[in-house]
Amino acid sequence: MNTFYVTTPIYYANSLPHLGHLYTMIVADTISRAKRQRSIDTYFLTGTDEHGINIERAAQKAGRTPKEQADYVVSYYKKMTSEFGLDTAHGGYDIFMRTTEPFHYQGVSELWRRIAKAKTPKGNDAIYKGHYEGWFCAACAEYKTEDEYQKPKNEGDPPTCLIHDTPLDRVSEESYFFRLSDYDEALLSVLEERPDFVRPDYRRNEVASFLRGGLQDLSVSRLKTSVSWGIPVPDDPAHTMYVWFDALTNYITAIGFGNEERQKVVGFDKYWPALHLVGKDILRFHAVYWPAFLLAAGIELPRAIVAHGMWLDPNGRKMSKTLGNTIELDILQKYFSIDSIRYFCLREMVFGQDGRFGYEGLIDRANSDLASGWGNLSSRTLTMIARYCDSRIPSGVIPEDKLLLAKRTGVDTDETTVAGFIELARDQFVHQFDNLAFSKALETAWSVVARVDKMITDAKPWDLAKDENQKQTLGVVLYRAAESLRWLSVLLYPVMPEASRAIWKQLGLDGSPAQIDPTQLKWGELKEGSTIGEVQPVFPRMDKAKIMSEISAPTEPSAVAPGPSEPSAPVVHATQADAVGVTSFIEIDDFAKVDLRVGQVLSAERIPKADKLLLMKVDIGEEQPRQILAGIAQYYEPEKLIGRKVVIVANLKPRKLRGLESQGMVVAASYGEEGRPVIATFTEDVPNGARLK
Ligand SMILES: [Zn+2]
Repeated sequence: MNTFYVTTPIYYANSLPHLGHLYTMIVADTISRAKRQRSIDTYFLTGTDEHGINIERAAQKAGRTPKEQADYVVSYYKKMTSEFGLDTAHGGYDIFMRTTEPFHYQGVSELWRRIAKAKTPKGNDAIYKGHYEGWFCAACAEYKTEDEYQKPKNEGDPPTCLIHDTPLDRVSEESYFFRLSDYDEALLSVLEERPDFVRPDYRRNEVASFLRGGLQDLSVSRLKTSVSWGIPVPDDPAHTMYVWFDALTNYITAIGFGNEERQKVVGFDKYWPALHLVGKDILRFHAVYWPAFLLAAGIELPRAIVAHGMWLDPNGRKMSKTLGNTIELDILQKYFSIDSIRYFCLREMVFGQDGRFGYEGLIDRANSDLASGWGNLSSRTLTMIARYCDSRIPSGVIPEDKLLLAKRTGVDTDETTVAGFIELARDQFVHQFDNLAFSKALETAWSVVARVDKMITDAKPWDLAKDENQKQTLGVVLYRAAESLRWLSVLLYPVMPEASRAIWKQLGLDGSPAQIDPTQLKWGELKEGSTIGEVQPVFPRMDKAKIMSEISAPTEPSAVAPGPSEPSAPVVHATQADAVGVTSFIEIDDFAKVDLRVGQVLSAERIPKADKLLLMKVDIGEEQPRQILAGIAQYYEPEKLIGRKVVIVANLKPRKLRGLESQGMVVAASYGEEGRPVIATFTEDVPNGARLK
C-alpha cells in the first residue's frame, strides 16, 4: 500500500509555542501536502509531550493540576496551528498527539513489557533494576555527566546545567535501566546498512562517532515519590517511566500500537515506519535511544530521522528572550500572510543547516520573490488575457500561415522549447523536493518564473496587440505564460497552498492544485477558449518602512510606563536588546525625522496621585521652556534632576497625561527586568537646544 507517515517532535508542554515549533510543523505540513498531491495516503503527526517533573513544577507554581497545565499550553498550540493553517481543518495534521491520552498509556505499557521480556544482542536482559546516583537536570530531564555540567564555583555547591544554568539535583534512587550499552554495534550497523537513516550526512557522522565512543545504560524510571506525573511502570507502580521513553513512543501509539481501537481507526501496520523531523538538539534521543528501544522490542525502525537546523537572528546570533531578538508569532500573524512565511522558511533555510530569520528579510523576500516575482507574473499574464483576449485562454498553436509572421517578431515558434524547459524544471523540482532540498527546489521553480517573465518582456505583447496580423502570435505568448502558471500552481501548492489555489482559480480552472500530481502534468492541457476568473493580486506589496516602524515600536509595558490607569509616560527606552545589537536597520532619513535636542531641567516636581510621573520644565533653547511629563518618579528624586542636561525628543506630538500637556519626551536607557530608566546626559558642556545627529 502506498502510504507515508511524517512526524514533528511532540513538544514539551512546559512553554508556549515559538518560531522553532512553527517551522518544523510547516516543513511536515509541506511534505504531507506534497505526498497527498501524489495520491499517497499520508498521516501527519504533531503534538505535545506532557509528563515529567517540569510540568509538575510549572503546574504547582500556577496553582493548576499537571493536566490543567498541559491543557493550558496545548490551547496555545491549537491556536497557533489554527492561525497558521496547520490544523486538520486547514488540511494540515491528522493528529495532535498528547501523551496524556489513555491509549498512549496503554501503548507505552505494551512497549515496556515487550522490552522487559527481551534479550539484548549480547544475550542480557534488556531492562534491569539497579541503583542510580548522579546529577540530574530537571529542565533537561536527564542526568548530566561531568562534561555536561558546569563545576560549582564554591566547593560543596551543586554543579549547574550548561544549557539551563540552573543547579543540578543530586539524585540517588532505585531505577530501572535500559541496557543501552549492548546496542552500540547494532546501531552502528544500521547506520552502515542504511546511509539515509540519519540525515543530513554530517548528522549521521555525529551519531556514528557518539556510538563508537560507547554507550552507557539508560535510567528509564524514577521513583514515583520523586516524579509522580508520568506513566507508571507496568507491574511496578512505585516507578514512573522516564519521560523520553514515554514521549518517543507516541510515534507508534498514535497510530495504534498497543491499542486495538486506534489500530482500527488509523493503523500501525498501515503507516509505520515514519519519517521523523527533529531539531538537531534532540537528535540523540531520536537516532540512538529510540531505535534502540525499537530494536529491543522487535519493531521496525523509522524510515528516517532528519535533523534540521535552528533559526538565528539576521546577525547570526541565537534567538533568545534576553537578547530580545526573537521572532514573535503574533507579529508574524498580524503582518504576514501564511504563504509568505511558509515560503520564507523553506527558501531561506538550507534544510539541515541553520538559517537566519528577521522581519526585514521576510518583507524583502515577500516583495521580491512573491509580489514582484510569481505574483506579478500571474497578474500581468492574466490582465493581458483579460484585455487582449476577452478573458479567454487563447490558442497555444500558431497556424501554418502565420508562422512566418510570428518568426519575424522573434517569438519562438517551437512550443517544445518552453515546454521542454518547464518539464525539466518540474523533474528537478520533484527530485529536490523528495530529497527535502526545499530551498533548491524553490530556486528551480523561480527559474521558471524568470524564464517566463523574460519571454513576455521579449515578446512585448502590448506591441503585438496593436497588429491584427499578430493576434495568434500574441495568443501563443500568453498561452505559454498561462500554462506555465498552471504548472507553477501545482508545483508550489505544498509550499503555498492559498496562493496556488488563488492563481488556479484565476486561471479559470476547476478543482484544486491539491489534487494534481505534478509528475503527471502534461504541457498543453490548459484548455483554449476557457474563461479566466477575476484577476486579483495574490501577493500585495508590503510597505517595509511602515511595517518595520510598527513592529519596532515598543509595545510591552515596562515598569516605568504607568499602569492602565495612567496613560503611558513619555520616556524613550533604549532597551537592553538595543544595547546588544540591532535587529533591523533604518535609513538615515528615518533617523532624521526624530528631532533630538539638548535640554536642561529647570524644575521638576511630583504630580499628586500619579506616583510614577514627574512634571518637568525643560529649556531646549526656545522662547518658552517645554513642559514634559516623564514616568521616572520611582527612580529619580525631582530635586536632583534640576540643572541636569538631558536629551529631549522635541518633535513628538504633544499629548495629555493626567490633564497636563506633555510637549516632548526625555530619552533614557532602560535595563533590568523591571526596566529601570537611566536618563541620557552629557559629560561635556553643550548649549541648550543643540541638535543630536
Ligand atoms: Zn538543563
